[in-house]
This record gives sequence, C-alpha cells and structure tokens, in this order.
Amino acid sequence: MASKPLIAVTGASSGIGEATARAFSKAGHPVLLMARRLDRLEALDLPNAVIRQVDVRDRAAIAGAVADAEAAHGPVDMMFANAGVARLGDIARQPPEDWDEMIDINTKGVMNSVHAVMNGMIGRKHGTLVMMSSIAGRKVYPDHTIYCGTKFFVHAVSESLREYLAPHDVRVIVVSPGIIDTEVLDGVRDQTTLSNYKANKAAIGGGISADIVADLILNAYQLPQRAIVQEIVITPTRQKY
Ligand code: NDP
Repeated sequence: MASKPLIAVTGASSGIGEATARAFSKAGHPVLLMARRLDRLEALDLPNAVIRQVDVRDRAAIAGAVADAEAAHGPVDMMFANAGVARLGDIARQPPEDWDEMIDINTKGVMNSVHAVMNGMIGRKHGTLVMMSSIAGRKVYPDHTIYCGTKFFVHAVSESLREYLAPHDVRVIVVSPGIIDTEVLDGVRDQTTLSNYKANKAAIGGGISADIVADLILNAYQLPQRAIVQEIVITPTRQKY
C-alpha cells in the first residue's frame, strides 16, 4: 500500500481531471481514475492507479469503483467531483435532452461522487471534497442557461456541505475556472454559440492550461487539514468577467 492517501477523480480522461490526476500521481498519491473512455484512462499510464469505466450518472458504479480502490490503497482522502459537460446553446432552440444531460452529469453526477465518500470522511474526521463549478456558477453568461444552472447548483450545495462538514473536519473546496484549454468545447453543438465563444476566447488571447488549475488544487489539498481554501477562482488574466 502506498504511503500517501488515495485521491479519486471523476472525468480523469481529459482536461482538468486528467491534469489533476497527473499532478497528484506525481506527488506520490495512488489515484482512482474514473470516466467513460477507458482507453484514455489507460493511456495515462500512472503508477498505483485504479482505473474504472464509470458514468457518473450511475451511483452504484461510482460506489463500486471507490470500494475497489479503497481495498487496494486505503480510504479516499480527496474526491474531485470534476466530470461535466457544457452543451452551451440558445435556450429556445436547444433540445431539452441537452438540458437533461447537463443536469444529470453536472449536478446528480457530482452528488453521486460526494455520496460515495462523504460518510467515510465523516467517520474518519478527515477528507476533502473538491467540487467542480465554474465562473458560470457565480454569474450568468449568454447561451449558458442550463450550464449556469448546474454550476450554481454546485456552488449552493458546496456552501451547504461546507457548513455541514466543518465540525467533522472535512473540507469542501469549490473550483471556479474561467476559460481553460480542454476538450470541453467539443460538447457544444450549437454552431453560433460555438463561434461566439471562440471569438470571445480569441479576443482575450486564449485560455490557460489545465495544469495551472491542477497545481492550485494540489496546493490547496496540501495545506494542513485545519486550513481550507474555500474557493479557487482562476481565469486568464485578460478574462475580465
Ligand atoms: P473535458 O471535456 O476535457 O473533460 C470532461 C471530463 O468529464 C472528461 O474526462 C469526460 O470523460 C468526463 N465526463 C463527461 N461526462 C461524463 C460522465 N457522464 N461520466 C463520467 N465522466 C464524464 O473538459 P474540462 O476538463 O474542461 O471539464 C472538466 C470540468 O471543468 C467540467 O465540469 C466543466 O464544466 C468544468 N469547467 C471547465 C472550464 C473550461 O473552460 N474548460 C471552465 C469552468 C469549468 P469521458 O467522456 O471519457 O467520460
């Protein structure tokens, strides 16, 4: 068994989740990697990694993956509830199936991830929940209607969880990035929305690397358990809002 605690990451197959899995692995942690694209998780080729094909909408699948990883590496000390999709689009034209997908993955998926580890953390009086929101969880943006709704949900739940878990010495950290260079735009099907987003992104000189977000999460985790960075708001310098 590795000496550092186990770190669980949903959406570890690309972008911010992948960068965070790499950062914690490099810091010597065993990692539980979850996503739907198994080939991408395997390609990371990280040591002490437990790899599970998990759709975060499947509560039992997350719980099963956590149980398997904990049997090998001890309790999960940090859950990064990161998996998410951004089906940005004009709300009046958007098929409601896209709303369902965002709501199911970005809100219920996050809660399924929390559920898999929360009581263990309470019992141990130790642990960290890292909740993936967005600056779109702080204010609204055009064509982000349901996406913003899901991220406002994450902010609200995180605030409530932080209050609830504080007496149990469990930390709840919200991550609120601006424009980060990942595969997230692959999920935008509305071509007008996509070209507007890309134009805004180009106008500020582009996004920033997922490694920057990953390093901030690692730094926040490494603080003594008595100290908490309650929220990480990280944007490109030129992104004013
Ligand atoms: P990516 O598209 O690169 O990564 C998304 C990850 O989520 C992938 O690993 C994907 O894996 C996983 N995922 C999506 N749906 C599911 C599902 N149903 N079950 C399990 N895993 C799933 O984008 P990002 O890294 O940018 O996105 C990560 C998070 O960051 C999201 O919550 C996003 O909303 C948030 N965010 C991103 C910002 C950005 O500018 N990039 C800004 C603010 C927040 P797979 O498809 O293999 O299942």
